[in-house]
Amino acid sequence: MPEITWDLFNRQVEACTLCSLCQNIHHKVPGQGDPQSPLMLIGEGPGQDEDLQGLAFVGAAGQLLTKMLAAIRLPRDRVYICNIVKCRPPYNRIPTPEEAEACKIHLRMQTYLVRPKVILLLGATAAKGVLGPDIRITRDRGKWVERKGVWILPTYHPSALLRDETKKPQSWEDMQSLRDKLVELGCYEDLLGPSGRA
Ligand code: SF4
Repeated sequence: MPEITWDLFNRQVEACTLCSLCQNIHHKVPGQGDPQSPLMLIGEGPGQDEDLQGLAFVGAAGQLLTKMLAAIRLPRDRVYICNIVKCRPPYNRIPTPEEAEACKIHLRMQTYLVRPKVILLLGATAAKGVLGPDIRITRDRGKWVERKGVWILPTYHPSALLRDETKKPQSWEDMQSLRDKLVELGCYEDLLGPSGRA
């Protein structure tokens, strides 16, 4: 059994053909950010901009995500950001449960390497992929779940907020709840970085 390292993870994702999503992409999008952050964000899958750049959350939804993090004073480069699937689904469709399941091998390795204290699940696909198929994002967002010492919070995907602004107050509640949990766990100040501390 080889030692699990970021190098192994990156090579494994790059070579992966476990589902058909890899057939029509420009780049794999494994994820990026602080690889030792106490906070991990998981979204659905790459869109067009992400596919072209090989980076997660760089399109319009990514820009909103950066603002959501800034609203609780978190610099984006202090967190780790990735998706349920690492290849762009055609026409930005939702990944099938089979595709999400196939890609879990990479997400598990990523979570093992980052060892986050808190995970924010962005949208229904991420919530179902991590917490199970019975999760309904409109019902279960904002409710904390603890698994093996990791605190997990489902919330809306930023692209849902771009489509429907009436969801923004609930999203803001969730971001405040996220900040409070990070404070409670003693990792908020570290995430702010030297320039963000009061
Ligand atoms: Fe492999 Fe995931 Fe891409 Fe499917 S989406 S080919 S499982 S990396």
